[in-house]
Amino acid sequence: MRYIAQDDLVLPDDWLERAATAVTAVSNGADPNDHGNIWRELKDGLSALFPDKKCWYCESPVDRADNAVDHFRPKGRVAEATQPHTGYRWLAFNHLNYRYACTFCNSRRKDVLNGTVGGKADRFPLLDEAARLYGPGHLSQEAPTLLDPCELHDWELVGCRRENGKPCPASQDLTEIHRAEVSINVYHLDYEPTCKQRHMAAVRLMADIEQAKEFFGKGMKEYFTASAKKIRRAIDRTAPYSGEMIFLLKGQRHADHPWIEKLMMA
Ligand SMILES: [Zn+2]
Repeated sequence: MRYIAQDDLVLPDDWLERAATAVTAVSNGADPNDHGNIWRELKDGLSALFPDKKCWYCESPVDRADNAVDHFRPKGRVAEATQPHTGYRWLAFNHLNYRYACTFCNSRRKDVLNGTVGGKADRFPLLDEAARLYGPGHLSQEAPTLLDPCELHDWELVGCRRENGKPCPASQDLTEIHRAEVSINVYHLDYEPTCKQRHMAAVRLMADIEQAKEFFGKGMKEYFTASAKKIRRAIDRTAPYSGEMIFLLKGQRHADHPWIEKLMMA
């Protein structure tokens, strides 16, 4: 996961006006899905905010997904709500509530073969359920459990294991560990084929780090630079699973290798 600057989204002409009309229709009882063309219209613009049309939650490429626009706060119902909740219908046409997501993060799926189940669907747990909004109000009242790629630092809270590519919490803080664990489950970040891809990226990265360390130690500048460039590429926003690769690289920092810290800031 990486930070996505959703403020950069360019809205088509009159989109806000059409969204406002849909909000009125929904507040008068219409089904938000009947106006789904409003959010589907933003699909390309949202995908353009992250290189290679990657899913904002898992960084996998999104291929031909029909429902790639996820409502971060669900528009239909909310699984965790303790009282009847008809979903955050009033946010169904608020572009700040949209996240670009792959089918596995967005929709409930069961991977029978590998024994995992996940997908966001109508999940939206809060750290304090008593603070849940049941109608329009200040969103800051709610503390979402799910890691949000549109928050500056949430993406840093999930990493992966170098030995198998499985996602893991990246923090020592108990609340942050809880948020990462729930997010791994809800976004299905432990979906086995995704772990395999992540593992392949991790293996390549760790091999490059080993080489760079060796070349650096021996003062072989030219070879070191070539390896360092490969590592830089692996943590770039354009690279697959770059957030988790940054987590792995962070773990390799050492006083003997100041170049690692520098590389992360480059
Ligand atoms: Zn995804």
